[in-house]
Order: sequence, then C-alpha cells, then structure tokens
Amino acid sequence: MSWTDTDLVEIRPARRGLGAFARVPIPRGRIVGAFQGPVARFPKGANGIEFGDTDLHMLLELYEDERQLIALTLPDLHEPVNRINHSCEPNCVLTGIHGLTMVAERDIAADEELTFDYRPITLYPIGVPCWCETPRCVL
Ligand SMILES: [Zn+2]
Repeated sequence: MSWTDTDLVEIRPARRGLGAFARVPIPRGRIVGAFQGPVARFPKGANGIEFGDTDLHMLLELYEDERQLIALTLPDLHEPVNRINHSCEPNCVLTGIHGLTMVAERDIAADEELTFDYRPITLYPIGVPCWCETPRCVL
C-alpha cells in the first residue's frame, strides 16, 4: 500500500472533494510519500478497456498495448498521498528513481495543498477535467 509521511501531510477538504495538505512547512526535495498498490491487468474488448468493478479513483498506467492495460491501483483513499490532486503548476513531482516516490518540488507552506502534474503519467479514466485554475493551466 502507499505510504505518506503523516508528520507532514494530511487529508482535508479541497476545492473539489478531498486533497492532501501540508501540516507544516515542507522544504524542497523532501519525500512526502510513495505510491504502492496492487498491479492489475485489464483486458481490452470491443468497447475498450474492461475495468469491471475496479475503483477508478486512481490508476497509474505501467504498460498498455492493443490487448491490455497493466496499471498500478491505489485503492486506499485514507492514504493522503493517494489524495494528491492534479495541477498544471504543481508543487510536488513523482520520481521514478526509487519507485514511485512523491517529492516536494519547491518549498511548500503550511496549509498549502499538495499537487502534482498527472500528465507525465497516464491516469484513468481519461478526460478528467482540470480544476487547478492556475494561469498556466493547459487542460
Ligand atoms: Zn490545469
């Protein structure tokens, strides 16, 4: 399952639904959490990817071809790192060096919402609207 440094981050209400927020100032470069979860294989049928009854809250694509999607599933919605919302101007970045580790990309103030850019990873379902409202929003 995913892990969050809960000394630093907690779940709070966000503009839409819930988000992950800094409890204290977080310095640039600090690891705030890591994604981990069951990996699932979803076959492709005539109507596209067959997700069945999988919770589509967050799936990170690991591999896709014409027959299947293989994705990391993040089912634990009580884990703050799994609640980090998208922004086109994020303050966190997902690194692949030690697995899927979430790192503060800049200094983050206490009470600031943590965000990362979903675009470098493929996130299902596709077509989720962006609510980041930043001047550099590209979605
Ligand atoms: Zn945006």
